[in-house]
Amino acid sequence: MDHPPLSTISPHAEHRDWLLCHHCGELQKVVSFSSENEMVCFNCEAILHTGGARRLEFASALALTALVLFILSNALPFITLEIGSQSQTATILDGFWALLERKQWILGGMVITTIFIFPLVEIFAFLYLLVSYSYNRHLPGQVSVLRWLVLAQNWSMLEIFMLSAVVASVKLADMAVIHLETGAYAFFLLVGVLILAYIKLNRRQLWSWLNTNNYFTAYDNEFVYDCRVCKAMVGESIIENKHECPRCQSEIHKRIPYSLQKTTALVLAAIILYIPANVLPIMTYSTLGEVYTDTIFSGVVELLMEGLWGIALVVFVASILVPITKLVILTYLLWSVKIKMRRGAKHRAVLFRLTEAIGRWSMVDVFVVTLLVSLVQFGFIYTVEPEGAIIAFGAVVLLTMVAAETFDPRLIWDALEEDAQSKGDSLD
Ligand SMILES: [Zn+2]
Ligand SMILES: [Zn+2]
Repeated sequence: MDHPPLSTISPHAEHRDWLLCHHCGELQKVVSFSSENEMVCFNCEAILHTGGARRLEFASALALTALVLFILSNALPFITLEIGSQSQTATILDGFWALLERKQWILGGMVITTIFIFPLVEIFAFLYLLVSYSYNRHLPGQVSVLRWLVLAQNWSMLEIFMLSAVVASVKLADMAVIHLETGAYAFFLLVGVLILAYIKLNRRQLWSWLNTNNYFTAYDNEFVYDCRVCKAMVGESIIENKHECPRCQSEIHKRIPYSLQKTTALVLAAIILYIPANVLPIMTYSTLGEVYTDTIFSGVVELLMEGLWGIALVVFVASILVPITKLVILTYLLWSVKIKMRRGAKHRAVLFRLTEAIGRWSMVDVFVVTLLVSLVQFGFIYTVEPEGAIIAFGAVVLLTMVAAETFDPRLIWDALEEDAQSKGDSLD
């Protein structure tokens, strides 16, 4: 929804007390800045901001801890596998090296980006912002660093890798003895610490520390729109001239340009790749001269036959249910916007937030294959090799994640807005 300037709503309100919901565009007053609670949009119930004032100091201690744990978990051995008298120990990055040896560049690139590069840069970004915040010293480039942190959050996948390590261990449990090594414990702690750091990171407070102004207009009485990164309110004329948020320099539009076209193209590409991802084998394992192949589906069936219900459920949800649900929801949302559906906007907004939240968890299978390839190399006795479907499947996950980012959820509310306007016109 588009909004008249604040001056017509509440002449005495301070601008920093107001916030535009990114999901539906409704304007609302920030209830309490130092509240420990979440603030939720009154219209669509999206979470607008969380966090209290003293959380940032705690977050900087967490970031330091995370750095130490990150170094430990990558330097120390992660897991050991024993078959008979042979044993194989792997670090987290061994999966990446094993993929490079097999010339699996795309898969290797996906793995190293999501479990090493992004998390490491993320930890340094936390430190750069939070330590200087504790001393109230501004450093160059902090606006870009915080912008990157907000945009890259979904692409750092340590907690998903952790789930994959559990799945891989259970899969291997009947053929080998598994020992978790020190690196694995450091890694599990790291995941916990990073999750806590994000909970404690009060972005609103950091943005207003970097630049207190969050309301930019060129003229009186112009419509304002929110910046999806820093939540500043930016006037229509500024957006039309520069397409850049004056506070965080990220791209800003009244609606994401060509949102429907881009999302449709990405969803179509994902649907097409979903076919080879399920038809082709995901990995091959050979033991004592015999070769077996697994598809995504047969992998789940095997786990069920072995009576591993819990893990079968995890793999089924992550690799089959989540991608299908995401594709169905995105297709439905695109169609509903196209036909200007008015019913159930709130439900559709919830569906969209669901696809945003669940999408990355499908990476579980990609990491499981990576882990198995690096761990299970016992020559003639037992080896595992990645196959074509895993690349297709990884691409499906990435494409649907990008599709959720190119879809502009404000489009869901536009049909209602048109109705309200035409009603207003007929009253005049
Ligand atoms: Zn809202
Ligand atoms: Zn901004």
